[in-house]
Amino acid sequence: MQFRDLKKQYQVLKEDIDKGIQVVCENANFISGTQVNELEQQLAEYVGVKYCVTCGNGTDALSMALMAWDVKEGDAVFVPDFTFFASGEVVSFEGATPIFYDVDKATFNSDPNSLREAIETVKKEGKLNLKAIIAVDLFGLPANYPEIRKIAEEYNMLVLEDGAQGFGGEINGKKACSFGDIATTSFFPAKPLGCYGDGGAIFTNNEEWYNYLISIRVHGKGTMKYDNVRIGWNSRLDTIQAAILLPKFKAFKEYEVTDVNNVAKAYTQKIKESGLDIITPTIPNGYLSSWAQYTIRLQDEKTRNELQISLKNEGIPSMVYYPKPMHEQKAFENTDCIKNDLNNSKELCGEVLSLPMHPYMNEEDIDLVVGAIKSFFDKQ
Ligand SMILES: *Cc1c(COP(=O)(O)O)cnc(C)c1O
Repeated sequence: MQFRDLKKQYQVLKEDIDKGIQVVCENANFISGTQVNELEQQLAEYVGVKYCVTCGNGTDALSMALMAWDVKEGDAVFVPDFTFFASGEVVSFEGATPIFYDVDKATFNSDPNSLREAIETVKKEGKLNLKAIIAVDLFGLPANYPEIRKIAEEYNMLVLEDGAQGFGGEINGKKACSFGDIATTSFFPAKPLGCYGDGGAIFTNNEEWYNYLISIRVHGKGTMKYDNVRIGWNSRLDTIQAAILLPKFKAFKEYEVTDVNNVAKAYTQKIKESGLDIITPTIPNGYLSSWAQYTIRLQDEKTRNELQISLKNEGIPSMVYYPKPMHEQKAFENTDCIKNDLNNSKELCGEVLSLPMHPYMNEEDIDLVVGAIKSFFDKQ
């Protein structure tokens, strides 16, 4: 069994993907081809924002957003403690200070109370400028933006939505990647909408930031590539990747998000019916997840680790996202990044297990996984 079956997806979409790649090769428009522009327009329209800027990957997308806001040394940027490393890495990369705040155990996402506490502490210390809040749409579920936006307004801070895992999610019918002042996503192959290599995108309604982003994407270009008005980067989405994403995005909109939600529903129902001591993911009312991961929680680390080995022996892959909270990463050991307790995040690292999850899973696959979990507990 595959953890995320990209081979199966390719077999279904093969004709359109192959055709797309072939057209790029025939036209040899490998960089900045019209397919890139077409994709950006479709993505912006779907998300419901004015501008989409594709780029090299989801990490560059986050960095470019922080650059657009001139985030620098002396700035505090608040980051959830339970996320992929890049969410915090980019803050330090700009010379600013990441301050980690705790998450809610049921949703795995930002805990607004912990965020507020961390902001208050930094404010009282008076050493750093309260600049921005990063919220992450972890495992496909949008963060609690209604609360996060309130806090941002109260302290006059910017919100950066790290939607690398959250593309396709919704809150009350409004799409993920529309909730931040700037939002970013990743097209890394295993993300909800993935390409066949690295890729990313940035979303905003702000024209000034948009103009800055398209400039730094290509060496700080002014009116053209050889007129350089600022120090920039080279971070573009290849035309081939755009050509691959166009048919994949069509499938994503037409059925993949629906299908992956049906898989999640079946998992939750079957796990609940089994009566096992397992906590299934919580999706708050009005929220829709795009299920980058289906993550269960076990009672303790020992059970989690033994279950993972037992599944592996049955040929079922599973992953621990994430084994270590951000504040315990060695890379941050010299950063003054802890302002309040981060217990939930730390506990989650010992309890979580992500199961095989993708839109092409069938009932049989789901039964196999749940059956293997059951037989592990039966042997206990
Ligand atoms: C994958 C991921 C990123 C980085 O995206 P890349 O395209 O791999 O650079 C950033 N944040 C989160 C939460 C991610 O899961």
